[in-house]
Amino acid sequence: MRACPAIPTDMPVRAQFRTQEDYSVLDFASLLVAIGFSTAFLSVILLAAWKTSRRDGFLLTCATGALLIAVSVGLSVLDRLQPSVWLLAMALTLLMSGTANLYGSAAQFRLGSSPWRRIAVASLIPVVLTLAPLMPGYSGIAYAVSFLSTAVLLFLTSHQFWLARAQAPMTTLTIASLYFLVGVSFLPRAVLVLARDGIVVAGRPQNWAQDLSIMLVIGSIPALGALTMALSQIRTAQAHRREALTDPLTGLMNRRALFDAQQGGLAPASVAVLFDIDEFKSINDSHGHAMGDRVIVLFATALKDNLPASALAARIGGEEFALILRDTTLETAARHADEVRRRFVALVRAEADLTCTASAGIAGTGPHAAHADRVLAEADRALYDAKRGGRDRVVIAQPQAERPPLARADTAFRGSAG
Ligand code: GH3
Ligand code: MG
Ligand code: MG
Repeated sequence: MRACPAIPTDMPVRAQFRTQEDYSVLDFASLLVAIGFSTAFLSVILLAAWKTSRRDGFLLTCATGALLIAVSVGLSVLDRLQPSVWLLAMALTLLMSGTANLYGSAAQFRLGSSPWRRIAVASLIPVVLTLAPLMPGYSGIAYAVSFLSTAVLLFLTSHQFWLARAQAPMTTLTIASLYFLVGVSFLPRAVLVLARDGIVVAGRPQNWAQDLSIMLVIGSIPALGALTMALSQIRTAQAHRREALTDPLTGLMNRRALFDAQQGGLAPASVAVLFDIDEFKSINDSHGHAMGDRVIVLFATALKDNLPASALAARIGGEEFALILRDTTLETAARHADEVRRRFVALVRAEADLTCTASAGIAGTGPHAAHADRVLAEADRALYDAKRGGRDRVVIAQPQAERPPLARADTAFRGSAG
């Protein structure tokens, strides 16, 4: 066993025994240094994340905000070591500009628009309101105004994430709560600095509200950093999913998206329409693939026009399209399909100076729900009938048992094409 070293008897009592202040749990300057470093590291991490996913501009804005706050905290530490009104002015200015950047970043995440005007306004107003009393020496008022402004900016940031909650509910709501909580912690700081120190602070404010707020900030920084990064990941995953389900040429759903959407089957009174551009190969052969693509886009335009809100439209193959209509009859769907066909003929003539037609096959669920595969297969057979019947027409499928052995071009719904 090691013996305890003896305390030299000639040492002053103050040196032998640590006082109550020495054991103070919170050393304010150390906490500030901790915040400064963690915010600076967070800024670097967000910047690195932005470099790999440049479409998430809100990461860059957030990184800028974190950097400004880190510098502000560094200046606060210097100001505590050697108080100076200029250091304090710069620290408070950067604190509010940094928080305004966080607000701008949240708005940018929600709206996707440039945040710089919003940030400029959100920085300028509180900075002017803070510096106006600080410069003539009313540091208490300046502290109170800056803490209040920071709280308001944090509430605004929280509000933006609340408004964006549909994009990633769990993550955005957690971020909104954290910003709100940190914002709340700034309110008693504003009140206490005036109540305890008055309109002119001798030294720098030190009270329980400061300590509580700083502890909350320290706890929130890693969480906010991780959640902000998670938002970017969620966005990327959503974009990949969207791309996987969208036809890049027309912007319509692709085949996979249509079948995914119909996994549960078609509701009663639903109708499927399959379209196919007639003799499309000859357009490619005579006018080139680019013209073929243009004709496909024109068909998609004709299809999207006047589309009922509940309808689903998809490009399911090269020059093949599908439409799922709800709460409708075969006859109404046939009229709608015929309008699409006519619009397409007119569009191709007007835009590409070509004569090109399309055929459609239609099948419905009837009064009961049905498998999408079955209804689409029936619509496909009707489309085949339309082709065999001479193209440029809409054919309604008959229930299989009643189908005659030959194509039913005689039942075709065919207006005079454009
Ligand atoms: P039908 O009236 O019987 O439908 O005859 P068709 O020529 O329209 O049908 P076919 O299936 O013989 O030809 C379809 C062509 O569509 C063949 C293929 O090269 C072309 N195609 C498929 N996808 C695209 C595309 O994305 N762009 C272009 N330009 N052509 C495509
Ligand atoms: Mg085809
Ligand atoms: Mg075709």
